Amino acid sequence: MLFIVSTPIGNLKDITLRAIEVLKEVDLIAAEDTRHTKVLLKHYGIETPLTSYFDYSKRSKLDYIIKELKQGKDVALVSDAGTPGINDPGYKLINAALESDIEVSVVPGACAAIAALSLSGLPTDRFCFEGFLPVKAGSRRNKLESFKEEKRTIIFYESPHRLLKCLKDIEEVLGDPEIVVVREITKKFEETQKAPASKLHAHFSSQKPKGEFVILFNLKNS
Ligand code: SAM
Repeated sequence: MLFIVSTPIGNLKDITLRAIEVLKEVDLIAAEDTRHTKVLLKHYGIETPLTSYFDYSKRSKLDYIIKELKQGKDVALVSDAGTPGINDPGYKLINAALESDIEVSVVPGACAAIAALSLSGLPTDRFCFEGFLPVKAGSRRNKLESFKEEKRTIIFYESPHRLLKCLKDIEEVLGDPEIVVVREITKKFEETQKAPASKLHAHFSSQKPKGEFVILFNLKNS
């Protein structure tokens, strides 16, 4: 069986009992970055063999994992943080397993987008997750433009070095709506700020933005 196992997004305690059990019991763990996952495994005394797997891994790596599964081995798929497949490697392997009639089971847990949505105070009944916005300014602004009529809460990830540019683009393209910026969820410097984009730009300009960020807004609610 292939187990899709969520791991913490900051606080190492945010892992389920079942995730620990599965990671201990499987024959192999396919990890986005084995060095990163070793820290988690060491913390929980897990000694299961590791192999690396990312979306751009060679086809031979995917074939190797599928071969192990077909031979009856149990494999756990983990990413560096949170839920595999959510802006992280996974879906190609999961799809290949399903197509090979291999049983797939999920061990759910932390996901930064969902944690940020809970924290945001924005409507949660309908939302749309956009991953990372385009890096190039023109494409990013076009993307923001496309949200103008969106009624659902929009969630996306942003890197610390593009945060200020992104806030400026939101202000200019969308008319300075109220937005929510959630930073460093479950970590020491966790922070949730809700204000017009221009105010958040000023807030995060006071010192260089650091850490991991999720941005959310609902244009029909602001
Ligand atoms: N698979 C992960 C998940 O389930 O959330 C997402 C992986 S994606 C490559 C990494 C991005 O998620 C970061 O750049 C950041 O935008 C967001 N992220 C991950 N952990 C976070 C945290 N603790 N606080 C805020 N954002 C986080």
